[in-house]
Amino acid sequence: MHDPLPEETADRREAERLESLDRYDILDTPPEPNFDKFTRLTRKLFGTPTALVSFIDAHRQWYKARDGAEASEVPRSDSFCTRLIEDGEPLIVRDAAADPRFSGNPYVLGAPYVRFYAGVPLRSEDGNIIGSICTIDTVPRQVDEGQLAMLTDLGEMVMEELNLRRLATRDALTGALSRRELREQAGQALALAQRHGHKLSCAILDLDHFKEINDGYGHLAGDRVLAKVIATCTKMLRRTDLIGRLGGEEFAFVFPETGGRDAAAIAEKLRVAIAESAVDLGPATVRPTGSFGVASLADLPLDFDTFLAQADEALYEAKAAGRNRVAVWDKSVSLSLANRRRVLKSGRILAGDDSAAVDCTVRSLSARGAGIDVSDPAALPAQFDLQIASDGLRRRCRVVSLTDNRVELAFEPRKAS
Ligand code: GH3
Ligand code: MG
Ligand code: MG
Repeated sequence: MHDPLPEETADRREAERLESLDRYDILDTPPEPNFDKFTRLTRKLFGTPTALVSFIDAHRQWYKARDGAEASEVPRSDSFCTRLIEDGEPLIVRDAAADPRFSGNPYVLGAPYVRFYAGVPLRSEDGNIIGSICTIDTVPRQVDEGQLAMLTDLGEMVMEELNLRRLATRDALTGALSRRELREQAGQALALAQRHGHKLSCAILDLDHFKEINDGYGHLAGDRVLAKVIATCTKMLRRTDLIGRLGGEEFAFVFPETGGRDAAAIAEKLRVAIAESAVDLGPATVRPTGSFGVASLADLPLDFDTFLAQADEALYEAKAAGRNRVAVWDKSVSLSLANRRRVLKSGRILAGDDSAAVDCTVRSLSARGAGIDVSDPAALPAQFDLQIASDGLRRRCRVVSLTDNRVELAFEPRKAS
């Protein structure tokens, strides 16, 4: 075991780790055969009932692939795999009940009654541990060196899969540009437009209530809807326009030689085309809709990330105004949202007297509030502060809305001193 890190170093390391994880865009994506095969192989290798490929954000261990497990995520605090992040090396627990480190763990004392655990860390190209591949059994077991070496190889293969897809220039499902390729091509288009004083606009599309489509008809159906929506959009674009997948059900468009008003009109055409399309899923027909945020190049020089962030702020407005609509960014949008940014940060919910702490993952942040994910929103205390140690932030909060595990918070005004 290592000596514990000074708190500040630990916070900074965790912030870097989360940034690294964020770049893979893997959290909350559907199961995929390319990852399921690793858990299948792991079970075979150990002869165990359960194997998992997990990614670990600030508050939970989320399973990209799970073989023999019911839940799709567990709180990070009790997870065995979290130790891999701290220790940086494989962890073998032959009998958890007889191991003082784990004998009091709720997953040992209660369901799923873990006795045996073997896990190796998943390490990103920049050296951060972002997840794990592991196997679990309800009876004690031995592991030989060969098995451990193979589990390590499997972990490396999981990371190869992730790294490869990040290098891909196109998204396999929709044919849209990958996020990296979009950034590359959009950066060139932006530089060109700025150098020559040409117009340029961008838009972000986020499908509405897409989770309901997945939950109602399954992920494969969701995938078909995504492919159809992007095919519909692609048909309507010019050859010089760009379309890229930012992640999940979010896409970005870049329209060269196009000012704000024209871009809003194009987005509106795309919105109508999506709303009028129907995806035949056999037993049912799904009618997807999408919300758009549009931003156009003003006189100020700006980089593509800032440009996208503006479109994203407008998108947030379109969602808040009821979805299935187009919103255009201007300064007032930015002021009302106080520069809301998407982030992946580690946060803690502290009750007034610091008595209770709940881990959370901060997904959006502005001067006015934050969007956080927690494992159990019912466990939030009546009055609480949000603390983001890496930013030195602590603010009293009010809950604005709650959907599944996502909680939108508004910061209470600071008390005048
Ligand atoms: P909103 O109108 O607020 O955007 O609601 P939403 O349900 O679309 O929003 P949210 O971002 O909570 O959910 C997006 C869902 O998209 C969650 C995730 O399971 C699903 N998803 C992400 N990537 C894929 C994918 O590649 N295929 C499928 N089928 N689903 C995906
Ligand atoms: Mg989304
Ligand atoms: Mg959505």
